[in-house]
Amino acid sequence: MTGAAPKIRLATVWLDGCSGCHMSLLDTDERLIALASRVQVVWGPLVDAKEFPRDVDATLVEGAISSEEDLHRIKLVRSRTKLLISLGDCAITGNVPAMRNRFGAGAVLRRAYLENGTLDAQIPRDIVPALLPVARPVHEVVPVDVFVPGCPPSADLIFSVLSGLLEGKHSNPAAKFG
Ligand code: SF4
Repeated sequence: MTGAAPKIRLATVWLDGCSGCHMSLLDTDERLIALASRVQVVWGPLVDAKEFPRDVDATLVEGAISSEEDLHRIKLVRSRTKLLISLGDCAITGNVPAMRNRFGAGAVLRRAYLENGTLDAQIPRDIVPALLPVARPVHEVVPVDVFVPGCPPSADLIFSVLSGLLEGKHSNPAAKFG
C-alpha cells in the first residue's frame, strides 16, 4: 500500500515590502485550498512560530534587504531553505525600498523622525532595526533560485510557480519566471 506523498514544507517571509506580494498570494483564493492538501505552510505572517524552521523546501521572500534585521533573517532563511524564491520587484530589484538609496540612510532617518516629527522628535536607537546604508535586492545578499517579478506578481503567476513546485519543475536552481 502506498501512502500519500509528503507535503512540501513552504515558508513565506516579509522583509522590506508593503505586504502587497503576500496579498497577491492570498488572491489565489480557492486555489490555495486545492494546494493545502499538498503544502504545509511552516512559516509566514499568519504562522505562530518563534523561530524560522529547519528543512524548509521552498521560501517565498517579499521585500528588499534594508536593515540589519533583514540581513540576519535572510541569511538564516537561506541556510534552512532548499529553494529560495524572490517574490516581487522589491525582492528582485530593490524597487520601492531602494528609492532611498540616493539620499543615504542618515538623511532618510532625519527626514522621517526629526523633520516630520511633531512631538519629542528623535531618531529611535533601540526599537527600530538599524538601517543598512542602501536597500538591496535579495540575490545581492544570498543566492536566489527562482525570480517571480511584478509589483505585485499576479495571483496567476504565483499559483503557477507553486503548482510548478508541486510538479517538481523548479528543482533546477537556474529556473526563472517572467
Ligand atoms: S513588489 Fe510591489 S507589492 Fe510587492 S512588496 Fe514591493 S511594492 Fe509591495
